[in-house]
Amino acid sequence: MPDSAPSTFIIPDRLTIPTIAKRRAASGPLNAGVAAAADVEAFKGRTQHLHKPPAKRWCHRLTDETKARKGSSLKEAARFLETEGLISLGGGLPSSEYCPVEEMTFTVPKVFSTGVVSDETDVITAGKRDLARGVSMFDVETAFQYGQGHGAAQLLRWMVEHTELVHDPPYRDWSCTMTVGSTSAFDMAMRMFTKPGGWILSEEYTFSAMTETAAPMGVRVAAVAMDENGMLPDALDRLLFTWDETVRGGPKPFIVFTVPTGQNPTGWTQPLQRRRGIYAVAQKHDLYILEDEPYYFLQMQPYAGPEAPAVPPPTSHEEFLKSLVPSYLSLDTDGRVMRMDSFSKVIAPGSRVGWITASEEICQRYRTHADLSTQGPSGVSQLMLFKLLEEQWGHCGYLDWLIHIRMEYTTRRNVILDACERYLPKDVVSWNPPAAGMFLWLSVDYKKHPDYRRKSLEDMEDEIFHKIIQYKTLLMKGSWFCPEEGAKPDALFLRATYAAASRDKIQEGIKRLGEAVKDSFGITAEVNGSS
Ligand code: PLP
Repeated sequence: MPDSAPSTFIIPDRLTIPTIAKRRAASGPLNAGVAAAADVEAFKGRTQHLHKPPAKRWCHRLTDETKARKGSSLKEAARFLETEGLISLGGGLPSSEYCPVEEMTFTVPKVFSTGVVSDETDVITAGKRDLARGVSMFDVETAFQYGQGHGAAQLLRWMVEHTELVHDPPYRDWSCTMTVGSTSAFDMAMRMFTKPGGWILSEEYTFSAMTETAAPMGVRVAAVAMDENGMLPDALDRLLFTWDETVRGGPKPFIVFTVPTGQNPTGWTQPLQRRRGIYAVAQKHDLYILEDEPYYFLQMQPYAGPEAPAVPPPTSHEEFLKSLVPSYLSLDTDGRVMRMDSFSKVIAPGSRVGWITASEEICQRYRTHADLSTQGPSGVSQLMLFKLLEEQWGHCGYLDWLIHIRMEYTTRRNVILDACERYLPKDVVSWNPPAAGMFLWLSVDYKKHPDYRRKSLEDMEDEIFHKIIQYKTLLMKGSWFCPEEGAKPDALFLRATYAAASRDKIQEGIKRLGEAVKDSFGITAEVNGSS
């Protein structure tokens, strides 16, 4: 378990009870109709942040494109729609009469306290005119209409409150705005901060889509060495300290992209001390951190070994939240972090809904961009998530769901680790038990390969990759996750995931992997003793 999260978390019960309910009562009813602008400040605790310092300004780092964005005048005009008695002949919004959806109904599992999910289900319904009928704050008519780039105020409020509960950012003017998932948020952040010919920094193995987004923008990625606790502060410091613009052909980078929890592809998680170390280097070199955290809530129970009894789930929401490694956002006294949250790994990737948390300056720029590009996530998804998270589960019900997910992933992780212990030749393949996420990073000692002196590492990796397919299993090549163009890896890794296959198939897949590796390395069962 990580060392302590800030101990001042106050976890209110469902939305109906004290803290948030009181705040909501004080701020009055949320009247958010068609394309309503959201006042994020009003969603935050009024007094909770006043004593905190303001965020650092980043204007000097923003691209000309971002600074030139004036926003959408048509969306600006939407604020007059709230005017009493107003007849709008202005906005090009189709009448909801011509939206053929009268009602949306979906079925979800019942979640009981502390992560127990039953076989029983709840049916959730959203009607076309629930808002006008006074039965809900959000409805089909509003959600399926054009909206603001920051997303619907109804759902955004839930996100702001959730962010406050989990991270309580330590500066005053933090804000949130919705995204079409973290892939889009990263793309937009790149356009906000980077120019062709520039560099950004990331872990030496990283999410390949990030590199693939940066490359066509003319932005290169400098790899920072890592160990099983993630990016190494000393390596980051050294890389920046010794940065040579002439050799690199570009200025010293100021953006660091990191996946601190259950990193893709390694599955490694930065403990609190490591995060503090990286943050200190970011302060020293005045870096801006893009914290990409789709796996944050896939933090699992500790792995105690193949024979060890299962570790029981957290017994309360408070215990659950305290068990999470504090985020960069929660350490961000300067306002130098843009955190990207996503529902992709905990509800549904196809929802295409997430949100960023950053200083108001950055969020405002992001919204201005979103108004003229994505126009916010799909209203269908937003309505579904609102109904589920706000009206059905509330904050505590969502935490129950997350505890449930945690326990499911813990079981899956344990299954793959047990299978590895059983079937893999340990003199050739090694791994660290992941504490979060959905990936297991397997290190293959290529120096023991019979062709070690004859073949390049690349060819050996390719041979092993195809051998595994021959044994009817698929793993990803580690080299696919190397972000720095031309930098040749000097290790051989394979990425396996335990997220989707059934438990039987995970075991069978690892068994086949073991056979493929033994075949490739010419290991006989008797010699290895681990068949
Ligand atoms: N970031 C990382 C590190 C990922 O591994 C993934 C998905 O695999 C994403 C972002 C994608 O997130 P989203 O679905 O929110 O775009």
